[in-house]
Amino acid sequence: MSENRRQTGVVELCEYCGRETEHEVSIEIVTESQKETNAEFSKEPYRISTCRACGNSTRLRMNNA
Ligand SMILES: [Zn+2]
Repeated sequence: MSENRRQTGVVELCEYCGRETEHEVSIEIVTESQKETNAEFSKEPYRISTCRACGNSTRLRMNNA
């Protein structure tokens, strides 16, 4: 785990491949504007996982309670 931040893949289900594959996972902060209250911006962390087999990436909102 402390191997000099070597990117190790996370094995999870890829919906494109239809099977479990290795993914590279990163976190991205996306600023979202909310139309109703135009002064409000919320920064939402998204989890980006990119399948190493097919190259498709999936964005998953982390704050979805
Ligand atoms: Zn895939």
